[in-house]
Amino acid sequence: MKYDVLNPATEKVIRTISLATQDDADAAIARAAKAFETWRDVTPADRGRLLRRFADAVDADLENLAALEVENAGHTIGNARWEAGNVRDVLTYYSAAPERLFGKQIPVAGGIDITFQEPLGVVGVIVPWNFPMPIAGWGFAPALAAGNTVVLKPAELTPLTAIRLGELALEAGLPPGVFEVVPGKGTVVGNRFVTHSAVRKIVFTGSTTVGKQIMAGCADQVKRVTLELGGKSANIVFADADLEKAAAQAPYGVFDNAGQDCCARSRILVERLAYDRFLELLEPAVKNFKVGDPSDPATEMGPLISAGQREQVASYVENPAFQGTAPSGPGFWFPPTVLAPASERAAREEIFGPVVAVIPFADEADALRIANDSEYGLSGSIWTRDVSRAIRVGRGVEAGNLSINSNSSVRYSTPFGGYKQSGLGRELGPDALAAFTETKNIFISTED
Ligand code: NAD
Repeated sequence: MKYDVLNPATEKVIRTISLATQDDADAAIARAAKAFETWRDVTPADRGRLLRRFADAVDADLENLAALEVENAGHTIGNARWEAGNVRDVLTYYSAAPERLFGKQIPVAGGIDITFQEPLGVVGVIVPWNFPMPIAGWGFAPALAAGNTVVLKPAELTPLTAIRLGELALEAGLPPGVFEVVPGKGTVVGNRFVTHSAVRKIVFTGSTTVGKQIMAGCADQVKRVTLELGGKSANIVFADADLEKAAAQAPYGVFDNAGQDCCARSRILVERLAYDRFLELLEPAVKNFKVGDPSDPATEMGPLISAGQREQVASYVENPAFQGTAPSGPGFWFPPTVLAPASERAAREEIFGPVVAVIPFADEADALRIANDSEYGLSGSIWTRDVSRAIRVGRGVEAGNLSINSNSSVRYSTPFGGYKQSGLGRELGPDALAAFTETKNIFISTED
């Protein structure tokens, strides 16, 4: 079956690819299972060296990968370069892991007890369309480092950078079968990863609805699963904050990647005392947000990914308080939009577009009540000059990734993941390897 990949900024077909069938998925899983037999025994130093070569190949191809993402996903060129660089950095970070995957020696009676961190086997990574490169890398880099082989399914809409990463892995010297990229439909290829018994773990990033189906499917084989799902994160601004800075940075915290970001701070909660002033400061920041040709380095926001996504986003917008601008003509454009007040639906559901609800709160307790009144809990921000309050509120918000006087969520060396229905498990950082290994305990008797 053929699939036309579109450029969302022009609506033109940029490439036609073949979608894998279930038989193709089975064949890729079989190759990965075969490759696991030797990959798991590659010496730790050599496995690390191969991952560094893969990182170097990504670095050498960075401009090409970035240009592919601009064309395929409408990401701004600045973002796309960061995303390709993030794949390189995550590979480099985890290339140090094979030689540091220590077990323990535990004191016991009558002998010696040692633990080993052993790879699981074939890991299936299922990726959404919003950040095709980084989300792929957060799954495959630690999985490979821990000695697993990987089958990876990109989203139907955005397969091009994943296909290129598969080629780069081979060019860098990873043995065939160690990293298999299988473009295809979620219900065919993604579902096969879940049902195939040789796939021992699923790393899924995507919508909460599909994530629940995957978790239920994995239960059948007690298959390991990591889920990174939706979000409706709160950006909490207290009246004592640097309001100018908080307002100037708020658009980047929600409109980056056209709001198609699971960490988007799509609810701005503002202390009532500062509410009017904050909106006054926010308006020019939103109106000046540069939306347009994603290949122009000055552009801050590109189009949405598809016509369907634009329709979905538009359904949340009625009587906006103010909006920025967006190009007319071809392309799935939508202007940055501020809702104040917002409907219950817009204030509660993940919109996954450049739409933000600005909501007043009375005091600290009220801010926490509103922030936590959500089925999600992925990220968020707290803006205040009061350090004690920043820590109190930071500990009180039910979310996995918070920033104080900043809207940045992601660093490859720190854990990332959600509370509640935003996910299960953590990616990145020093502990992610635990999610790609089993702990084996062996006791050796020292008795005669
Ligand atoms: P989606 O759930 O529709 O699809 C995600 C992936 O799953 C795609 O590759 C798709 O083909 C596949 N898939 C679909 N149905 C499947 C099935 N039945 N079995 C197996 N695989 C299946 O999500 P999307 O629309 O591509 O992405 C947007 C969503 O992803 C948003 O809700 C967003 O919040 C979430 N997201 C979360 C994070 C995070 O880290 N928490 C990061 C990025 C995106």
